[in-house]
Amino acid sequence: MRYLSTRGRADRKRFCEILLEGLAPDGGLYLPESYPKIDARLGQLRQIWVSGGYADLAFEILKLYIDDIPEAQLRDLCRKTYRPQVFGTPEIVPVRQLEHGLYLQALSNGPTLAFKDMAMQLLGNLFEYELARRGEELNILGATSGDTGSAAEYAMRGKKGVRVFMTSPHGRMSAFQQAQMFSLLDENIHNIAIEGVFDDCQDIVKAVSNDLEFKRCYKIGTVNSINWARLLAQVVYYFAGYFQATRHDSEQVAFTVPSGNFGNICAGHVARMMGLPIAKLVVATNENDVLDEFFRTGVYRVRGSADTHETSSPSMDISKASNFERFVFDLLGRDAALTRSLFADALGRQGFFDLSAHPSFAQAATRYGFASGKSTHADRLATIRDTDARFGVVIDTHTADGLKVAREHRPSGLPMLVLETALPIKFAQTIEEALGRPPARPSGFEGLEAKPRRVQVMPADVEQVKAYIAAHAPLLPP
Ligand SMILES: *Cc1c(COP(=O)(O)O)cnc(C)c1O
Repeated sequence: MRYLSTRGRADRKRFCEILLEGLAPDGGLYLPESYPKIDARLGQLRQIWVSGGYADLAFEILKLYIDDIPEAQLRDLCRKTYRPQVFGTPEIVPVRQLEHGLYLQALSNGPTLAFKDMAMQLLGNLFEYELARRGEELNILGATSGDTGSAAEYAMRGKKGVRVFMTSPHGRMSAFQQAQMFSLLDENIHNIAIEGVFDDCQDIVKAVSNDLEFKRCYKIGTVNSINWARLLAQVVYYFAGYFQATRHDSEQVAFTVPSGNFGNICAGHVARMMGLPIAKLVVATNENDVLDEFFRTGVYRVRGSADTHETSSPSMDISKASNFERFVFDLLGRDAALTRSLFADALGRQGFFDLSAHPSFAQAATRYGFASGKSTHADRLATIRDTDARFGVVIDTHTADGLKVAREHRPSGLPMLVLETALPIKFAQTIEEALGRPPARPSGFEGLEAKPRRVQVMPADVEQVKAYIAAHAPLLPP
């Protein structure tokens, strides 16, 4: 399997070459040259799911995309990652029925109680494997508003060859999220609380990464959502969800996915391209409705910071959807020149592009199965209340956005699975607002907020962050 860039650069790379990378050198995103088809093997994969469980299913799917890690080792990495002890249940991603034909797929029983663990836990093990093979080290620098940073830290803690420097906006994450990150005392994990907002953190990460000399000397890398390995890991749970909601391989299903950067649902698109019978992929956004606007109108318009709302589903508060280029590339029949002109030229020049008159736009729905919807704070509160009252199930705010939009798009006669992207305890304040009581705390998280903390508070100053990294990461030989 070889990987190409959505912006047309001529060279092709193998999985381990792009594993530690973000953007391709031409600014595009990596995608496989073609999607391996599993249609004829769906029954066999179902058997593997039934007899071997999630880890073996993950191996069967990953090996179609990874041919530069020996199979025995890849299988070990999958088994080491997807264990009931780490993800809380034998199914890893259990599906439960809310009402006839409507299901919740739990993806958030990993160490940080959000779905990002599903990919990040694998990434931690893949990074450790590949860095050892190369005899290299890596310093991961990131910016987080909550879920990504903690998932990265819990995945990389104690891993050989990896250090994490994670910036976050000082005092702006939920109390639970702060406690989750800052209570990690591992030597290779560094929390940097920046006196500023999330954008300041992102600007610092960008500035450090643009200092190529510093980046090279200190082996700076990232784990952001455009990383192909993260996306690939997420493909697996669409299969696991499908097998739980159906009995026969001729059945179709629909998925609704609470979306921000279009990573999670892009994995659904990949699963569908492989031949998983997904009739519909429904994108659910909050008030930051960049994606809903595109699927309704054909106009993709990135927002400025004044236009980006702080909402009660904060992990979906995005101004642009950084994985969206992958889908647009497929939608345009993999026309790299056109993709480049939209994302590099039009977005840079005018902040939007308009595909409404392009013949491919209608195919987003007809050929690729996409639909979309939007949910607001009031919708979230109502959905959380309704789900608690009728089913005795407390859902988090992002999942509530998904469930609200899923109800508007249920294809008749087909199972609809809503992906649960976090547990309610992470967003306790809004749950209290909705239900008048705090959400239940999963066992193992008692007293989290009272634990000792390791965090460095710093002004929003690139030089100070660099100095901190330099003081804590050995200068690597050139
Ligand atoms: C990251 C996140 C999302 C959005 O996922 P994307 O892959 O960026 O679309 C939704 N819900 C929660 C809880 C998240 O942490």
